Order: sequence, then C-alpha cells, then structure tokens
Amino acid sequence: MITSMPVLSSASAFSRVTALAAKRPVHAAFTWLHANPKTIMDWQIALVAIPAPTHGEQARARWLAERFTQIGLSNVEIDAAGNVLGTLPAANIPADSTGPVILLSAHIDTVFPASTPLHPLLDGDRLQAPGASDNAAGVAGMLAVVSALIHAGASNEELALPVPLVILGNVGEEGEGDLRGVRHIYDHSALAGRIAAHIVLDGPGADGAVTQALGSRRFQIAITGPGGHSFTDAGIPNPIAALASALAALAETPLPVEPRTTLNLGTVRGGISVNSIPESAQANVDFRSTDPEQLLRLEVALHRAVEDAVDRCNRRAKAAGAGSRSRLSFALSKIGDRPAAQLPNDSALLSTLRAVDRHLGLRTDLRLGSTDANIPLALGVPALSIGAGGDGGDAHTLHEWYSSKNRELALKRVLLLTLAMLEWAADQ
Ligand SMILES: [Zn+2]
Repeated sequence: MITSMPVLSSASAFSRVTALAAKRPVHAAFTWLHANPKTIMDWQIALVAIPAPTHGEQARARWLAERFTQIGLSNVEIDAAGNVLGTLPAANIPADSTGPVILLSAHIDTVFPASTPLHPLLDGDRLQAPGASDNAAGVAGMLAVVSALIHAGASNEELALPVPLVILGNVGEEGEGDLRGVRHIYDHSALAGRIAAHIVLDGPGADGAVTQALGSRRFQIAITGPGGHSFTDAGIPNPIAALASALAALAETPLPVEPRTTLNLGTVRGGISVNSIPESAQANVDFRSTDPEQLLRLEVALHRAVEDAVDRCNRRAKAAGAGSRSRLSFALSKIGDRPAAQLPNDSALLSTLRAVDRHLGLRTDLRLGSTDANIPLALGVPALSIGAGGDGGDAHTLHEWYSSKNRELALKRVLLLTLAMLEWAADQ
C-alpha cells in the first residue's frame, strides 16, 4: 500500500495542468467530448434500463464489460466480487508490471430493487429514470473520458500514458453494499498496494469534491428470551421491554456538534401477538461521524446500554421468582462499517484538482460524504469523489432525473485531473 503522499506545490500543479491542456492529443480528447454528447447519453440510457440493485449487479456488469471491450480497453474482466475492470496501458511499461496505477471508478449499483419499473425517458437533455444521476451519470462519464483518451491516442502512443490507468465499474456502493466492491479491490485484488491515487465519479455536478469521508457504523441488536403467554407466564423477562429501555438510554447519549456526529435508531422489530411475551426483538442503529474516535465511543455506549438493560430485566425477573432458564440474552452484530478519513490539505491530488479547477474556471468546493473514496482514504491512499457533470436531482427516488447541460466541462475536468495524476504518479 502507498501510504506516503508527497506534497505538490500549487504553482507546480498549475504549470503541470496548463502544459497538459496545451498538448495536441489533449485537444483531440476535448474535441471527442464536444462532438459526442449523443453517444454518451445513449450509453447512459442503455445502462439505466438494466436493473442493478446492490448484490444484483450482474447484468449491468456484463453490459459494461462489453462496452469496455468495445471502446478498446485491455484486460477487461469481471472479478470475484462482480466488479468490472479494464486497463488503458502505459506506453513504456510492460503489461505484467507491478508498478503504480491510477484508478478511475464509478459504482454501478442502485438503491432500486430488481422489480422497479425502469423506463428511461429522454426529453431534450433531460433524462428521467431511477438511477439516472446516481450513478448512470458517473458510469457514462467514465466511459466518455476513457473513450476520449483512446480517441486522442492513448492506445497508439500518440498520447503516451506514463503509468497505466485502471477503469473500474464497481459493485456494492449503496446502502447494505457497505462499499464491498471497492473494499475487494484494496483487500484482495492484484491492484492492492499499487494504487497511487483513486478518482471516484459519483453523480452529477462539476465543482464539488468529496474529500472528507464520513464514517458510519451500523449495528443490529438482537435480544432473545424464552417467551410465553402474556398472562400464565407473566414474570418471564420481555425482550421488547429490554430493547426499548436500551434504545431509550442510547438515544440520550450526548453527541458533539464538532466533529459532527449523529446517531439514528433506524428499525425495530419483534413479537408475534399482543398476548404473547415475545421470544425476540431486534433493532438496527446507525452511527456517523467524521472522527473514528466518536464512532468507537458510540459503539461502547451501545454495548453498555444493551448490557445494562438486559441485566436489569434479568435481575428483576429473578427477584420476582423466575426460574434460571427465564433469562434474556443479547447479541450485537456489525452490519455496516464505512471508515472515517480525510484527504490531507497538502495532498498532490487536492492541489492538482485545485489547479485543474483554476484552469477551467471552476470552484473547488470541498465536501463531506460517504462514498467509495472512504476505503482508500482510510488506507492513506489519496482519493476523492467528484461529479460527472450535468445536473440532477431526486436521487434514490422513482422521480430521479439528470440533465446533461454542461456535462462537457466536468468531463474535461475529470480528464485533465486523471492525466495530471498519471504524470504525478510516474514522478514518484
Ligand atoms: Zn452514488
């Protein structure tokens, strides 16, 4: 793993970007982006029409692998996690090199169940479909940037890449996916330890950048007991009573405003009928913070709240004469863990993005979010998540929309940032 992040001064980043933007092949790439808005939108429409719920991305992955091959990427494969990978090789580096690479990725999964009707509707430059922005915009943008690079000569050495660019359409970004696609890349793939910087494309927009990874941890609380009849077995401890008192105590946990930390009691289940002492009760809770310490503190508070509540119920039942088998027990399981981290202010990736934005007349709005970039950032790999251009809204609803107006500008931004980081990686 690459853990050092050499500093790049803003002046040298800016001159690198200006020199890049003046190159003839880069102009050719920009020209491709300008000339092909319809091709890009056609990809987006085809992609959005294929259901891809988290854990059910296979059909969309196959479609994307075909596009990767069609546009001319090398080493196209679908890995063990279901991620789609392709490579744009470097000019003078053998294919079996284990040197640094730059990773450009976009998640292919959506929050919509496979049964969701997907009927993409294009009206002018506005596309209406669940998933149109999040993240069909990112995947289509990624295909566009790579196609532009290939068209400009990235595969025939006219635009010689100094290190390989790996393209990834990853699974498991949304909800219960718990970032499993990108996690697989960093934990189990041949790329682990070789990624010098990682650029994530997620959703629309041109001037933001998520550089602060909001951490989250999710737990399921399960409390179980013998259960029984509400009248004849009265006195047997009640899992719902214990769960309710644990949740009430947890909800009282003080939360700092800075670093911003939140706690949510998300779901509660349990019991089978009003006249039965339940055998079990469960709840799911979600903790979020920019600070890993706070997440740990909340985890401790959760353990204490549940243990205390169960103990209290058991002691009360014992005092009332309940038998030794009339006890509650509990289990806590982690159902989600996204690490908190931050791209350092002096990171070369951030100074390069600022230089690109200055060159294109864009603002560099640094934001906080929970994205695929959480994983590399927590490992010390420079990473950020940026928009793939255009505009969009109503994400995660059936009314989701995307507008391709000004998409080209953001794609130029992604293209310049990628090329500049390839040069930077070669200099390390
Ligand atoms: Zn997304």
